[in-house]
Amino acid sequence: MTHDLWNDEDYDRAIEAAAEAARAWTRSLPTRRVEKSATLDELRTAFGGELPVTGANPADVVQHLATHGEPGLVASAGPRFFGFVIGGATPASLGADILTSAWDQNAGLYSAAPAPSIIEETAARWVLELLGLPLGSGVGFVTGCQMANTTALAAARHAVLREAGWDVEKHGLQGAPKVHVLTGAGAHATIYTALRLVGLGSETTLVDSDDQGRMIARSLEEKISQCEGPTIVCAQAGNVNTGAFDPFEEICDLAHDRGAWVHVDGAFGLWALASETREHLAADCRAADSWATDAHKWLNVPYDNGIVIVRDRSAHLGATSVRASYLIQAEGDPEAPRDPLDWTPEFSRRGRGVTVWAAIRELGSRGIEEMVDRGCDLATRFAEKISEDERFRVLNDVVLNQVLFEAIPVSGNDKSELNESLVERAQRDGTIWLSGTSWNGSAAIRFSISNWATSEADIDLAAETMIRLLGEDPD
Ligand SMILES: *Cc1c(COP(=O)(O)O)cnc(C)c1O
Repeated sequence: MTHDLWNDEDYDRAIEAAAEAARAWTRSLPTRRVEKSATLDELRTAFGGELPVTGANPADVVQHLATHGEPGLVASAGPRFFGFVIGGATPASLGADILTSAWDQNAGLYSAAPAPSIIEETAARWVLELLGLPLGSGVGFVTGCQMANTTALAAARHAVLREAGWDVEKHGLQGAPKVHVLTGAGAHATIYTALRLVGLGSETTLVDSDDQGRMIARSLEEKISQCEGPTIVCAQAGNVNTGAFDPFEEICDLAHDRGAWVHVDGAFGLWALASETREHLAADCRAADSWATDAHKWLNVPYDNGIVIVRDRSAHLGATSVRASYLIQAEGDPEAPRDPLDWTPEFSRRGRGVTVWAAIRELGSRGIEEMVDRGCDLATRFAEKISEDERFRVLNDVVLNQVLFEAIPVSGNDKSELNESLVERAQRDGTIWLSGTSWNGSAAIRFSISNWATSEADIDLAAETMIRLLGEDPD
């Protein structure tokens, strides 16, 4: 049978061009220069131009992207990338992602995407089991922790206002009782974006934090005692600079005594719960009401993938579920398959949970535990190696996969300038890639291990590179 418009060969060639480029890219990752090689001008030239009027051959379009895109890529999916908090993609999760694109299912609805919906159903349960979170929780696969925070805070807003007799879904925040929001001074920037998006505003009651960015329980006690009525506390598992964890036992006790909701931003740190040796860092956050995490960081699935988890399913559904007459939805039957659109702010969406299923199936809980433990052990190794040069100083307690450090100028030059220039030169050098931050009012360097494939040799090379570059410094 033939079809007027369909052309198998066009698909075959486009897929083959993509597969070949994808293979060349992943094969290059362990050893290639990490920094991009193209300039901004070159990228604009390669992808710029007038709006095309006539079409082009499909395989040629893909080939153009592959050829001209490659020099403009940072090898952030590779084992020598230590910037921000960025994971790679395990082989099965990458394959699953490619397949998810080819399937092109609208995984908002079971009726339109039966297999992806059921795969997500299982992925959701596996994530809860891996992390030891309440099995009845609502789970949504969203684009990242930013949206996981946003969804969780929408559920929190629903619940605390429902408690105050206010239906926020119906009436919005206009005329609603005031909702008090408390955040630690070390909270991640995306908590504030999330608060802006759910209409609670970024001007929160700030709780003091200690030198590792951990919330100080005494400060929370003092501040929360002044909050009457609906209250939400945003805690954190894994500070982006230090990897530190908030004191969850005290936070949950203080908040729950007052009927407040506790949300935990655990973009990468929540994965400590998957490791027997690191679990103690986050174990008490299991008493919280909602959790936000990423799969594209420490679980090492391709972008973009975040997970929102809410203990009270009715609060989660209250914030995000959708009903429309033209949809085919399962109603009321506890055995019915879930419709993913009920658990996320998106309506139409890709089967984002498929890669999560694939990574968990590929690694198993033991493999995930090993990956988390390895990242933590390698962070300790890096901290030790970098400290062998006395001009480097580690600034954090290395409890997880984050090392915060600085170079100290010998000749009284500006410390911030030295550290900023060191980060820039390290990126340009290309052996590794890391990024900077500001800590205690001066520039410092962050080193984050989130890639499943980073080895001891990569860590040793990273420390040697930083020591070599500092040695070359004119300072
Ligand atoms: C990365 C990160 C986020 C934001 O996650 P995205 O996936 O980039 O949206 C939030 N909180 C913390 C602690 C993070 O490290």
